[in-house]
Amino acid sequence: MIHENFFIFPHLAATQNACEPHEPQFLQSVESYFDRAAKLSDIAGGTLSHLRAVDSTIRVTFPIETGDGKTEVIEGYRAQHSRHRLPVKGGIRYSEEVDLQEVEALASLMTYKCAVVNVPFGGAKGGIKIDPAQYTAEQLERITRRYTMELCQKKFIGPGTDVPAPDVGTGPREMSWIMDTYRQFNPDDVNAAGCVTGKPLSQGGVRGRTEATGLGVYFGVREFLSYPEVQKITGLSGKIAGSTVIVQGFGNVGYYAAKFFEENGAKVVGIGERDCAIYDPHGLKVDELYQHHRDTGSFRGYSDTVEIINDSVQVLERECDILIPAALERQIGLRNADKIKAKIIGEGANGPMTPGAHEVLEKRGVVVVPDLLANAGGVVVSYFEWLKNLSHVRFGRMDKKWDESVRTRLLRVIEENAGRVLTEAERKALIQGAEEQDLVFSGLEDTMISSCEETRQTAKLKNVDYRTAAYINAIQKIATSYEGSGMLFMT
Ligand code: GLU
Repeated sequence: MIHENFFIFPHLAATQNACEPHEPQFLQSVESYFDRAAKLSDIAGGTLSHLRAVDSTIRVTFPIETGDGKTEVIEGYRAQHSRHRLPVKGGIRYSEEVDLQEVEALASLMTYKCAVVNVPFGGAKGGIKIDPAQYTAEQLERITRRYTMELCQKKFIGPGTDVPAPDVGTGPREMSWIMDTYRQFNPDDVNAAGCVTGKPLSQGGVRGRTEATGLGVYFGVREFLSYPEVQKITGLSGKIAGSTVIVQGFGNVGYYAAKFFEENGAKVVGIGERDCAIYDPHGLKVDELYQHHRDTGSFRGYSDTVEIINDSVQVLERECDILIPAALERQIGLRNADKIKAKIIGEGANGPMTPGAHEVLEKRGVVVVPDLLANAGGVVVSYFEWLKNLSHVRFGRMDKKWDESVRTRLLRVIEENAGRVLTEAERKALIQGAEEQDLVFSGLEDTMISSCEETRQTAKLKNVDYRTAAYINAIQKIATSYEGSGMLFMT
């Protein structure tokens, strides 16, 4: 089983060793990015303050029996940042670092993220303050169900109100517990499957959701690299093939990002994990390493010819073209920003960089593809899953056969006129109708291409970096929807 961000870097988050003490907390960082963009937007002050504020947050505590006769009080949160579109959407994370400001920061980021990629949802985020590694599956199930019960009672979950998804420390298993608990409280809700996304396929999940965030990171970096202005600043050729990549975090996001870069000809030279990092300038084998890490819990012992970096965070400072921080927030701060050697950074995690570090990197000509765009693939495909749940039909079920028969007839006419009969393999390749995963991946690719282009255009127009441009676009779109002018997000 694979979690959204499997390893949670507790020591890094606790000591925040990439940040100087005076650097802002995560929520303040998101707000400062927002404020910078707000000044450059055409939106009135009143609307901006409304837009920036978190709508509502609940904090719940509940006891669970740990099995040895003891009871433990568990603390959980759910923040809904903006309800300008319903449902609100965002993951639930299990981590010891969860607190009010983190959940609110992440909920705000979800609002802007959805707007950037034209997903018609508001933003939300939830969290339970536990280290999931310290609990058995049975205890985690009890915690998840109890937390969901609280959400049900407080009307903080439902296909039309608030739809959670996986995040750090959670995955399809937790999502199916959430759905099952919701169903028990709402037995008549015909759309109950749409109360949560990132579910296993057998429980109404959609093909491609697991890969979605990592694939979106890949598409995002690929697009920016194809822009001549980015090639000029970075000195890179624009081709993925032959470029070198370092990924921090080997959970769902990091693993799939690494895999898609490798599949497209890049060399993955470094991967950072909880206890150590691994580095090899000749390139690592992503799947082999993943297998080794899963079996042994570490990169150690994988091979004698590759370097193990004991202080994992230092992998961020190694030589590479593309850097993908896909672990936790605040991994790139003022302590390490000037040591980063990458030419382009694709933020797979939410908030991996502080505003101070961003400024340092921008000045040095490092291109940053910001989190609210780079890691939006997850919520884009969550949107597709939600649509599937509400329509009660698998994508492709209605049209696949029809498409194939139209193409077969068309080919027959072409063959008759061209005087050449195709081989069976040629015919198959040409007529094949789209499966659900094909549609999901192409929908995601199309969304990423157009959202990157929108961000690029605003960056050019306002002469700002891509993060500020993405925030400006988000602010404009949300403000327009407040004004009631409609369906912008679905264009
Ligand atoms: N947790 C993911 C994120 O931060 C996915 C959210 C979702 O699919 O709702 O974007």
